[in-house]
Amino acid sequence: MHHPAPEQPAHAVARLRATFRTGRTKPTDWRTAQLRGLRAMLTEHDTELTAALHADLGKSAYEAYRTEIDFTIREIDHTLDHLDAWLRPEPAPVPPHLGEATAWTQYDPLGVVLVIAPWNYPAQLLLAPMVGALASGNAVVAKPSELAPATSAVLARLLPRYLDTDAVAVVEGGVPETTALLAERFDHIFYTGNGTVGRIVMAAAARHLTPVTLELGGKSPVFVDRDADPATVAERLVAGKFLNAGQTCVAPDYVLTDPETARALEPALTRAVEKLYGATPETSDAYGRIVNERHFDRLTGLLGSGRVVVGGGSDRATKYIAPTVLADVAPESPVMQEEIFGPILPLVTVAGLDEAIAFINDRDKPLALYAFTGSGTTRRRLAAETSSGGLGFGLPLAHLTVSDLPFGGVGESGMGNYHGRYSIETFSHRKAVLEKPLV
Ligand code: NAD
Repeated sequence: MHHPAPEQPAHAVARLRATFRTGRTKPTDWRTAQLRGLRAMLTEHDTELTAALHADLGKSAYEAYRTEIDFTIREIDHTLDHLDAWLRPEPAPVPPHLGEATAWTQYDPLGVVLVIAPWNYPAQLLLAPMVGALASGNAVVAKPSELAPATSAVLARLLPRYLDTDAVAVVEGGVPETTALLAERFDHIFYTGNGTVGRIVMAAAARHLTPVTLELGGKSPVFVDRDADPATVAERLVAGKFLNAGQTCVAPDYVLTDPETARALEPALTRAVEKLYGATPETSDAYGRIVNERHFDRLTGLLGSGRVVVGGGSDRATKYIAPTVLADVAPESPVMQEEIFGPILPLVTVAGLDEAIAFINDRDKPLALYAFTGSGTTRRRLAAETSSGGLGFGLPLAHLTVSDLPFGGVGESGMGNYHGRYSIETFSHRKAVLEKPLV
């Protein structure tokens, strides 16, 4: 079979820029046609995508559907439902000294944008930003993650069949290819991944004065109050933490609670793990695998950071790490020094709410903060006295699925946000227009 040589980044960008200049991507009809194309790709090739996600991450069909395919379809449908309303120019009152005049804002597409995706939700995190970029009328260069090679290959093959190839290009590859892409001038760069590469992206963007959205990660804490029912907390925590084997940017990273509550949580967490994945999670179809050996070795190195409550086992050959809870974890231990990004949940004890708030504020601003508490005062204090990308009471991860909430970090967890109408803000320029009659 003949494989054409991959398109060079400079060529792809020039080609897309020429298309953008014709104005073809601006009409709403073009935008909605692209979104419908994406939707058709997802519904017609869900089996292929599911197989690729399983090959890359051992993702179950259920998880693939819920967190990647259907998640993106819902983002598309929400955008199709509201796009006209979101794009409507917004009138602004004119000050009296201008006399008879009108003013408004309108959303202009930015031009050619670059979307760089990570491996952990390799379909959703490439496609959901593309939904916003295309809905805003941009041409898009999409760079899937080389660490999820099966998904990257499927997307590179399918996307051109469903989208306007003069305005959308998929560039596969790793560091050399991304470095070459970053040398080009884009009108916006949307990067999801770790903060080290985030800095590389931002430095490259600065050379062209290109604005960036950085969707990064970090340690997302969970505060558990003494009044919260341990069984409920444990079931919700386990479901959020061990989804995708813990490789979720907004996964609960560690638990902060008082010693007594920690003791009550230990058996509850053990039961919750068994309830979800059975006594032998390695045989459960629902449980995923670690993306590669490097991350496997990094994670097994963290298993010694505390007393094993449940789990602790691993198998390098299949990149399996058991859903693990560690108790008596010291803040100085290795597992508390980096984003875990795997199926290990440390329990760290504090005296109470004041100490928990200080603990959170002593560290990088998290992408998400979660709390289980029946106290309205505690919820209000956490909301007012801490800073995080998002805040979830009573249920981890779920704020991400609310289409009308912005999703993004703050400080070390990133800058900018997207989803729904916030994607239009990110991928458009809000232009100020004044019109004064000549006579
Ligand atoms: P990754 O290794 O797949 O890297 C992300 C992208 O950066 C890839 O496309 C990769 O090709 C590119 N890249 C890697 N090295 C590069 C370099 N030197 N120069 C230019 N580009 C380079 O994914 P990752 O970074 O391991 O992803 C995990 C991290 O992402 C975690 O910290 C996680 O919390 C974060 N994350 C954040 C979100 C979010 O929405 N905020 C979502 C998922 C993951």
